[in-house]
Amino acid sequence: MVETTPVHESILQALRRVKDPDLGRDIVSLGFVKDLKVSGDTASFTIELTTPACPVREQMKEEARRAALSVLPIHQVEVKMTAQVRPTKSEQKDRLVPLVKNIIPVASGKGGVGKSTVSANLAVALQRLGARVGLMDADVYGPSIPTIMGASGSPLPKDGKLQPLVAHDVKIVSMGFFMPKGDAVIWRGPMLHKAVEQFLADVNWGDLDYLVVDLPPGTGDIQLSLCQLIPLTGAAVVSTPQDVALNVAEKAIIMFNKLRTPVLGLIENMSGEIFGRGGVQRYCQVHGLPFLGEIPLSGEIRKTSDSGSPIAISDPASPEAQAFLRVAQNLAAQVSIKTSGITETSERPEPKEFAQITKEGLRILWKDGHESLYPFRHLRLRCSCAQCVDEMTGKKRLQEETVPLDVRALALSPVGRYAYHIEWSDGHRSGIYTFEYLREICPCEACMATRRTVP
Ligand code: ADP
Repeated sequence: MVETTPVHESILQALRRVKDPDLGRDIVSLGFVKDLKVSGDTASFTIELTTPACPVREQMKEEARRAALSVLPIHQVEVKMTAQVRPTKSEQKDRLVPLVKNIIPVASGKGGVGKSTVSANLAVALQRLGARVGLMDADVYGPSIPTIMGASGSPLPKDGKLQPLVAHDVKIVSMGFFMPKGDAVIWRGPMLHKAVEQFLADVNWGDLDYLVVDLPPGTGDIQLSLCQLIPLTGAAVVSTPQDVALNVAEKAIIMFNKLRTPVLGLIENMSGEIFGRGGVQRYCQVHGLPFLGEIPLSGEIRKTSDSGSPIAISDPASPEAQAFLRVAQNLAAQVSIKTSGITETSERPEPKEFAQITKEGLRILWKDGHESLYPFRHLRLRCSCAQCVDEMTGKKRLQEETVPLDVRALALSPVGRYAYHIEWSDGHRSGIYTFEYLREICPCEACMATRRTVP
């Protein structure tokens, strides 16, 4: 029996103010608050999120701490953050891979767009964020995961199942482990189907939060087999900016729709000068699909992949690794949304279309028809990241005179479905602006009139 006193009740009531931004609900009704204990003026509890890869974990912890502190007679609060990834539920999955919670295929419309590179780096990034991750290389026509992950050898049988190899703390099985080097193997449909089944059921994957599957490019037998064998949590589709323009990625998306596999979102790879930038994001906007983020075209990504040490682990501070981390967080958020069973997330403000960087500033047209235009410096000065604002005291750290008068936003990327990450011309890179916050700081006359003080 859980002990409940009026103080417990009041703390829970206060904690209802804290929302999971991805699920759009408060942490109490989501059942995230566990082990609430009160002793004298001290309260302690655990917040159990649905993914360890939550980018606003620390903010939520701090918000919860403050909420609990607002209750009398509480003067001390201990918050523990944990995560329990929720599984995609299905009988077929329980039969084949009961301990694997989510299977996430990574697909592309054609080869050479960096699908394997992205799969490997996402697997590594999810692992670094604290998840248990497997990587299945189902690209029979060009299995490159062993090279990218630096995994060689053959998985050995143990207790009637194959033991996956482990590289960078990710469990790996690849078609490449079973194919003679240099041989052009001709696979027929039934053989492929059998191989996919064996890769799931005959491998000792153990407990996994996410099993990332690197699919062959295009729309062939492997995709069909995988989607039919087992309900997948959802697919991530990788495209270069120009391939969406050419509708190449769309073929993969249409295939998943036909096979009733949800598309968790799209990733723009090789984003930059040569192929352009922003095409995939625009595509997502038009088609109402989640955009998971962009990975720059970078020699470092190629080099690290060729040498078996994906950049997400070999150079975690690099902008490329950070980009992979953000995509991994967005992907994990989409998995949480899918597995939580929540369809409509909330009444929180949401842009109608992706915000635009214009000459005058950042322009957002909101779903309720309101339009906001934020002069860049207005927005830059209100950055609420840990570098700009002291997280403990809420005091501003950013000194106004250090921000150039002509500061501009250089790039904008989504964070889940609730915020934008902005890169600034003064070199500032860590700003995340939630939609709620953006709406709060709208500088238009009507909004200014309704609040006494501008944050
Ligand atoms: P796919 O699986 O789509 O066929 P790969 O992941 O094998 O593609 O990538 C194809 C080539 O492109 C590889 O040489 C890889 O290192 C390189 N590559 C992938 N992504 C990037 C990137 N963002 N920047 C630079 N090179 C990349």
